[in-house]
Amino acid sequence: MTSTTTQQGPQESRIFPSPAAFAAQATVSGMDAYNALCAEAAADYEGFWGRLAKENLVWQKPFTKVLNEDNAPFYKWFEDGHLNVSYNCLDRNLQNGNADKTAIIFEADDGKSVHVTYKELHEKVCKFANGLKSRGIKKGDRVIIYMSMSVEGVAAMQACARIGATHSVVFGGFSAKSLQERIIDAGAVAVITADEQMRGGKQLPLKAIVDEALALGGCDTIKDVIVYKRTGGNINFVAGRDLWLHDLVDNQSAECEPEWVDAEHPLFILYTSGSTGTPKGVQHSSGGYLLWAALTMKWSFDIKPNDVYWCTADIGWVTGHSYIAYGPTAVGATQVVFEGIPTFPNAGRFWGTIAKHKVSIFYTAPTAIRSLIKASDLDASVHPKNYDLSSVRLLGTVGEPINPEAWMWYYTQVGREVCPIVDTFWQTETGGHMITPLPGATPMVPGSCTLPLPGIMAAIVDESGADVPNGQGGILVVKRPWPSMIRTIWNNPDRFKSSYFPEELGGKMYLAGDGAIRNKDTGYFTITGRIDDVLNVSGHRMGTMEIESALVANPLVAEAAVVGKPDETTGESICAFVVLKQARPTGDDAKKLALELRNWVAKEIGPIAKPKEIRFGDNLPKTRSGKIMRRLLRVLAKGETITQDVSTLENPAILEQLKEAS
Ligand code: ATP
Ligand code: MG
Repeated sequence: MTSTTTQQGPQESRIFPSPAAFAAQATVSGMDAYNALCAEAAADYEGFWGRLAKENLVWQKPFTKVLNEDNAPFYKWFEDGHLNVSYNCLDRNLQNGNADKTAIIFEADDGKSVHVTYKELHEKVCKFANGLKSRGIKKGDRVIIYMSMSVEGVAAMQACARIGATHSVVFGGFSAKSLQERIIDAGAVAVITADEQMRGGKQLPLKAIVDEALALGGCDTIKDVIVYKRTGGNINFVAGRDLWLHDLVDNQSAECEPEWVDAEHPLFILYTSGSTGTPKGVQHSSGGYLLWAALTMKWSFDIKPNDVYWCTADIGWVTGHSYIAYGPTAVGATQVVFEGIPTFPNAGRFWGTIAKHKVSIFYTAPTAIRSLIKASDLDASVHPKNYDLSSVRLLGTVGEPINPEAWMWYYTQVGREVCPIVDTFWQTETGGHMITPLPGATPMVPGSCTLPLPGIMAAIVDESGADVPNGQGGILVVKRPWPSMIRTIWNNPDRFKSSYFPEELGGKMYLAGDGAIRNKDTGYFTITGRIDDVLNVSGHRMGTMEIESALVANPLVAEAAVVGKPDETTGESICAFVVLKQARPTGDDAKKLALELRNWVAKEIGPIAKPKEIRFGDNLPKTRSGKIMRRLLRVLAKGETITQDVSTLENPAILEQLKEAS
């Protein structure tokens, strides 16, 4: 652990109470209700989780034990209970009167949309599951899903869950090499893919990349490649290995008895985004995982029967698992599944799609918000004010800390100042939301994820694991296991222990890898940046977030990332990478603007936070899930060559531009 304590925290004084009309109808209404749930968890932790697991899931065989800590940190939840995740997400809705309710509104890249009811989705999944079984795929086998956003993608995940196969979804933008590594690591028996995908009006290959991945070698465990026909584009077919999805499922029965599994049965393996290092194959359970996905739909998203919910994430990320494939279906919601990209046919696509489907709950990432702010500053016709967003009642963000000024824009321009924003802090490893406002209760502060959900024992400690007082930054940890937590790193239990339960912290606290600070008065949490990215200037430890947010608060700036660079006098100096809303400046313009921004930060935060160097780019290096990769910027700031894992880097070309001062 390279760790550190961030001493400085953001000074944000704006506070926005939960709108009264929202609070009045909310599932968790008011802080008293929130506090009562927290008190219940504190008084009887196992009783609390046991009650919720009985109320929110259907168990084929009830559990008698809630939590087993014997082999910590390999915790077990509800271990002697049996259930099936797909049964909970689909069959339950057929019995609840939701059979004819729309489960998925599929919004295709080209703007066409189709509605799929719960009954239709159930049938699709059962046929798919029977098809997989007919190929000999069974409980415990691993299946790779390499598809774009589609009803079939969700159905593939649910079909695996139905037969007890463990899926590993690989984002459809990953290269053949990344796909091959994941196939090998997971020891998968099959790949489910599509001929091609549609993104931004373009047909992009999927099956061809699977062919390439398998040709790289080492994938002998793969017996089948199942291909969904999305575009009808020309693809290569290998006899005996490749088969069309429609040929596999068309004649299958529309009923498939679910495979009842133990609560601890691995539902999926998912590789992390790789923002801070080589991706880790995070293994999740069935029972505890689904409990939290369902419950957070109710608590954080206040989901109600008439909502139209839209999460813009891809099924290749954990957000697309918990908050597309599993959470919404487990609570019988209607959701939009979006194939396209936010900027096609123009940067008003999100707002137009909200208006078209009367979306009431909208969940997206700070990176998308920042890029749409920039786009609507440049072209007023794609500004949200041009669209009827009156159906929206709740907004959410996830993936990175949101800069307060981006939060304000989201709140005023998209949310009309009447929609709460849930700034949901969580990770691939946590399975679901951890720290977030409850929309009908928690007063919101821009840029702060506010308070832990009931039952989540989040805290801030120093490098020895001792609590730090509010107002002083430190390391974010979770002190008690929770049901949806990571169970292990696939194939690597030692890395699981050393990454998440380090001995330095006593081996029992979950280490999130993020730095945070709690407000002195409210106790609110604010994420200050990754602990790997903390800056140390003349002995002052600072998180990256505060300086970046100060830069983004300048009207000229669209995005910013700061990193430390070795410095003879100060130990480290601050190097800022900045994307302006206008075109990238060069020469004297760049020098003038750099000076202006350096002084701006000095004024906003203080001279200690003043970047020594500012480099301008057209963009920043980002993971394929849209997160800034500061670890690469650190190398560039030092003037060194990048030798690290860049498999999850979306835009390698940008590195060249950022190599030198503008
Ligand atoms: P890797 O673990 O491979 O470096 P990653 O951490 O980016 O990649 P994810 O699990 O996708 O992989 O992301 C989780 C991280 O995203 C969190 O640890 C945190 O840094 C950041 N994050 C997510 N949501 C929020 C939020 N609402 N506020 C602040 N940070 C957030
Ligand atoms: Mg991480």
